[in-house]
Amino acid sequence: MAGGGYDLEEIRRRADLVEIISPHVALRKAGRRLTGLCPFHQERSPSFSVDPESGLWYCFGCKAGGDLFRFIELTEKVSFSEAVELLARRLGVPPRRPADAAQQRHKDRLLDLHRAACEFFQAQLQGPAGKQARAYLDHRGVSAGSLDSFALGYAPQSWDALLTALAKRGYSGQDLARAGLAAPRRPEDQGAAAGFYDLFRHRLIFPIRDPTGRVIAFGGRALSDEDQPKYLNSPDTPLFQKRAVLYAFDQARRTMGEKGQALVVEGYLDAISCHEAGFPETVATMGTALTPEHVDLLRRRVTRLLLAFDADSAGLAAALRGRELFQQAGLTVHVVALPEGLDPDRVVRQRGPQAFAELVAAALPMVEWELNRILRPLESAPEPARLEGMRQAIEVLARLPAGLEREYYTRWLVERWGVVLPGSDSPSRLANLEAAVRQELARLSTRRGEPTRRTAEAVGGPAPADRQGPDAVRVSLIETGLLAAFIRHNDLAARYGPQLEASDFASGQRGIFAAIRNLLDRQERITTQAVLAQLEEPQAREALAEVVITEVPEDRAEESVASAVGRLLEGRLLRREAGLRQRLQQAGSEGEREPILRELTELRRQRSQLAGQRLVGSE
Ligand SMILES: [Zn+2]
Repeated sequence: MAGGGYDLEEIRRRADLVEIISPHVALRKAGRRLTGLCPFHQERSPSFSVDPESGLWYCFGCKAGGDLFRFIELTEKVSFSEAVELLARRLGVPPRRPADAAQQRHKDRLLDLHRAACEFFQAQLQGPAGKQARAYLDHRGVSAGSLDSFALGYAPQSWDALLTALAKRGYSGQDLARAGLAAPRRPEDQGAAAGFYDLFRHRLIFPIRDPTGRVIAFGGRALSDEDQPKYLNSPDTPLFQKRAVLYAFDQARRTMGEKGQALVVEGYLDAISCHEAGFPETVATMGTALTPEHVDLLRRRVTRLLLAFDADSAGLAAALRGRELFQQAGLTVHVVALPEGLDPDRVVRQRGPQAFAELVAAALPMVEWELNRILRPLESAPEPARLEGMRQAIEVLARLPAGLEREYYTRWLVERWGVVLPGSDSPSRLANLEAAVRQELARLSTRRGEPTRRTAEAVGGPAPADRQGPDAVRVSLIETGLLAAFIRHNDLAARYGPQLEASDFASGQRGIFAAIRNLLDRQERITTQAVLAQLEEPQAREALAEVVITEVPEDRAEESVASAVGRLLEGRLLRREAGLRQRLQQAGSEGEREPILRELTELRRQRSQLAGQRLVGSE
């Protein structure tokens, strides 16, 4: 994890978490901890908890949590490395060493070069060479204000205009090539003029800036149809990694923080049009799908994303597949339904800002949008297509985490299908439909290996008597308690830990268990700090904060651990059984089925033995 050249441990040692949190939360002592009203969500009774001993905090209400850096990230709306720097300065911790000086000089020079190139392109746009580009921008309705604030430019129709201009400022062809603005001539092209040639020619130039507004790359749009590709971007350089940068982020930053939302579009002109149409919180992905890096950048500033992508774009399809990414980041995602074949820029220009604002206001939650997209064309489709559509819709539901949201959309789907399936509007037929949907949903959830009560029923095994709650939330509580007990009681970790595998845990907690296993293997003491040192992902650190703040019933620790381990082992067996059943369905011959059945019988035996042990153990 990048710490900006600071010793993170030194910062942790010097910092007093309580002192850092106190200006934001009135903390009151409660046992070993302090509690107060959470600064990250509205509440009346305190669910925000600080553990000074481990240096971690956690909110049981909104599930935010982490260490001191995370707290600064959230309250100051800065990145991790910015939070480190801020705390280092506040606490007087010096940078570890003048971070690789040569590398820094190289970066500074690259930044200067980009600034010079940007000035050159801007001047070209205003000069005689820029006439066609100006006409194009005028035709696209880009205002003079945007021209200026987005620093738009023009790369002239020439093989060496930029090279020549920057040579005067001391930059070589090699420098420009490293910045992705020029390329070496191939030997066969070499006449008298050996050397380099400009990569951006006769293109409208969109400077790409970092969050603080420094130019780090360029995007160029072709002005004539014969110039390919239509869009040309700078390659990745030490300044610019396309998958981690969003266009217009520097300008959108403040409004994003104020509104708590970001409007995400795909193209440069889409972003500019949306800014002009009254959505200064707009950023663009520059043609790639939203990456985990993009999501991480956004989740620090906003809680809500509005996607305004072409209905048939690859970017939207990728976003739909990436739903779990958004869920983990705690972002709600709405989709703006754009008219067929129109991008945001066209909507704003052809129908006006007001019409666009109405579309944004009518944006649908991602799930609803996706279900609508599947269901709408089916109303007049033949029977087999409708069944297939229903299966697809249920698959969408199965990808939702079990709980309120899935329940809500299950009902929603059934009611919608009442319309889609003719004659299914009578109450009994709706009830039948709901039962069918739930059955299919249970089957799909099994395939995804969700440890829910439905899983147990669906695979035919008797549901353990004490596991009536169908929700995954309870399962996750068991795991949280177990990990908490492992950290507090190392002897129990040594006794029970080796029976478990990381895959027995929910994804958020796998990293924590893996870290505990590492410490066990190395025979080192398991402490919060030792586990924390192995976790890099902010999500994993958040999960650890939850674990550390979780109370362990001290007097019955071993009993709870044994029972939790039993449950996880049972979950593992259930998942294996489900997999075998799947294979059984696909198996053709008796010869293929035989070994599967034998294995299945063995798994069931193990499982009932386990259940038996647990019953005896709890008496
Ligand atoms: Zn909270």
